[in-house]
Amino acid sequence: MLEVKNIYFNYNKTVVLKDINFTVKTGDHVSIIGESGSGKSTLLKLLYGTYDLDQGHIFWKDSEILGPKHNLIIGPEFMKYVAQEFDLMPFITVAENIGAFLSNFYPEEKQERINELLDVVELKPFAKTKVKELSGGQKQRVALARAIAKQPEIILLDEPFSHIDNFKKQSLRRNLFKYLKEKNITCIVATHDKDDVLSYSDNMIVLHDTKIIANNTPQQLYENPENKLIASFFGEFNELKSNGIVYAHQLKVVDTSDLKAIVKQSYYKGNYYLIEADSNGETVFFEHDIALQKGKAIFLNRV
Ligand code: ADP
Ligand code: MG
Repeated sequence: MLEVKNIYFNYNKTVVLKDINFTVKTGDHVSIIGESGSGKSTLLKLLYGTYDLDQGHIFWKDSEILGPKHNLIIGPEFMKYVAQEFDLMPFITVAENIGAFLSNFYPEEKQERINELLDVVELKPFAKTKVKELSGGQKQRVALARAIAKQPEIILLDEPFSHIDNFKKQSLRRNLFKYLKEKNITCIVATHDKDDVLSYSDNMIVLHDTKIIANNTPQQLYENPENKLIASFFGEFNELKSNGIVYAHQLKVVDTSDLKAIVKQSYYKGNYYLIEADSNGETVFFEHDIALQKGKAIFLNRV
């Protein structure tokens, strides 16, 4: 279990994190979300022992994770950290980068392991390509493969798919999170993408204004968003005087209701249209099967 107890941290007197407490069970996946600048990357760096804490303690099982004041080498053996900016060795191949920390003692096993890792990140065709010739997204995949090469007990991922295009993102995400679960590797991922969270996280921690403002299952937080920040993470929503926070997909056009609105704009979204409407000066968003004529009066109800 990872235990984060009462940690405080500042950069040059600017407090970034205050009174942070949470635990993560071994093998669980936890995501950390929050607006840009809310301290997600800082928190991951603290978990890795990059900086000394102002206060508090971090434990993995029985060992305390300590900062540079106490350690010559940053980052404990049992932990791997993939930073937003990944640092790879550009002049050697993808396969060599992935195998960089693996023992040369059993060359056949080493090659097998590298092949398995190339499969996870879908880079087999690039095994012999030099890293400097890769795109940003491909480099990010090499960094992920290298981080899981030695099977850490816990892995920290900072926006792990941010450079990866939509063609690859879905399958890579499935492969990686499935692999980590199978190997019982505890995973903490900082992200701004709800698709990293909904299907894969056991818990979700929300950072805001130096504090944790929510820590619950994604399902709980999705179904009962306690505030606008959490709702906005999941999608388009309305804050209605009558109903509180309501997602766009929860409003349906009905024959008549207390919520009358005038259509302003229809946005094509593939399998639905997002409709923007005006209800007594309040903007209302809802989903609909077809585009609606601008100026049309409609009635909405919460489903
Ligand atoms: P996030 O990852 O959620 O976007 P960060 O942890 O990167 O947030 O940053 C949190 C706050 O700390 C921001 O206000 C940022 O400007 C500041 N910060 C981040 N890194 C440093 C640093 N090395 N020195 C000083 N301030 C920093
Ligand atoms: Mg960040």
